[in-house]
Amino acid sequence: MDAELAPLAEDWDTALVVVAHPDDMEFGGAAAIARWTAQGKRIGYVMVTSTWERKLA
Ligand SMILES: [Zn+2]
Repeated sequence: MDAELAPLAEDWDTALVVVAHPDDMEFGGAAAIARWTAQGKRIGYVMVTSTWERKLA
């Protein structure tokens, strides 16, 4: 596949990152977050998930 991703605009100052698991941003977005915070952008995190109840037989 030769398709290239279009560059993401960086003409913003604040972003809210929404993830489902505590490690999602570390594995999926750490490099981007480091780049953006180095540019002086404010990044907030919020984790949204549901409870999961395991029922033992
Ligand atoms: Zn995850």
